[in-house]
Amino acid sequence: MSRRIGFIGLGIMGLPMAKNLLKAGHELVVYDLSAKRVDELVSAGAAKGESLGDVAARSGLIITMLPDGPDVEKAVLSPGGLLEAAKPGSTLIDMSSINPLISQKVGRACAAKGVHFLDAPVSGGEPKAVEGTLAIMVGGSYDTFANVKPVLDCLGASVTLAGEVGAGNVTKLANQIIVGCNIAAMGEALVLATKAGLCPETVFNAIRGGLAGSTVLEAKAPMVYSRDFRPGFRIGLHNKDLRNTLEAAEALDVPLPMTSLVQGMLVKLVNDGKGDLDHSGIVQFTEEAADTEVRRKIDQPKEEAA
Ligand code: NAD
Repeated sequence: MSRRIGFIGLGIMGLPMAKNLLKAGHELVVYDLSAKRVDELVSAGAAKGESLGDVAARSGLIITMLPDGPDVEKAVLSPGGLLEAAKPGSTLIDMSSINPLISQKVGRACAAKGVHFLDAPVSGGEPKAVEGTLAIMVGGSYDTFANVKPVLDCLGASVTLAGEVGAGNVTKLANQIIVGCNIAAMGEALVLATKAGLCPETVFNAIRGGLAGSTVLEAKAPMVYSRDFRPGFRIGLHNKDLRNTLEAAEALDVPLPMTSLVQGMLVKLVNDGKGDLDHSGIVQFTEEAADTEVRRKIDQPKEEAA
């Protein structure tokens, strides 16, 4: 595809995603608030964008991968932002996980300027971003979707059009409910087993092939019993996603008691200074309450492992 792609937001997810577009032969111009991240992409073959407006003016397709809705609103709609400089007929894909109502607001502003817009959040975390095997859930018109699908195929193993603008982020919120509640339940299970004197790794191996087995269990249980909480997906970002979920649920009159509970756990962890831990660290809420650390026996100090 000959159009140049502008990529904004080179964080844990955006950096490997942009690298995969380069590997697939796309021409890229990139921008991030962190000059170090921009330099890393420039070394990999991308052109350096001087500002948001500069990237938009030089691109036929713009991808944003930013933390939250207010960041996206600011980057796209502010004076000097992406939309002011975007060419009519170009396409903006926001791949951040944000409140669907903000996707719709940004989508309307783009439409008024003749810029096509999709919301296309992802699931799969950093490992799948690196592999180019993300699950991508898209909201927008079929024609815009079909036009950019070959680009999204470089980033994901599954790319699904879920409905109109905003539908991608509604789907992502549904995903985040399932992942958050799963991790919290896994944490309770592993704390119980550990306090009962069992090795959590053995418990994991015993149950992973049964009905409790899941992608969440496979990815997160080993992180917990190895005490490796490097992100991954940060507790602070999951808190943001469940906050957006509860806002959307309130607007639709949907009670979500389990999601509310898990969001309360996330708020406490953020208040404790743990917002930058991987979200497998949700287990630490239950660990603190039960005064028990989930650690496989092989890693325990000798006197404890005896
Ligand atoms: P991150 O904080 O690592 O990266 C965000 C990047 O955006 C940073 O490099 C920051 O400097 C940059 N940025 C912020 N505002 C900017 C602006 N105005 N202009 C230019 N750059 C700006 O976040 P991440 O983990 O890469 O997550 C990005 C999005 O993807 C979030 O919405 C998150 O919820 C979602 N997501 C993350 C994961 C994950 O595992 N990390 C998984 C799925 C979805």
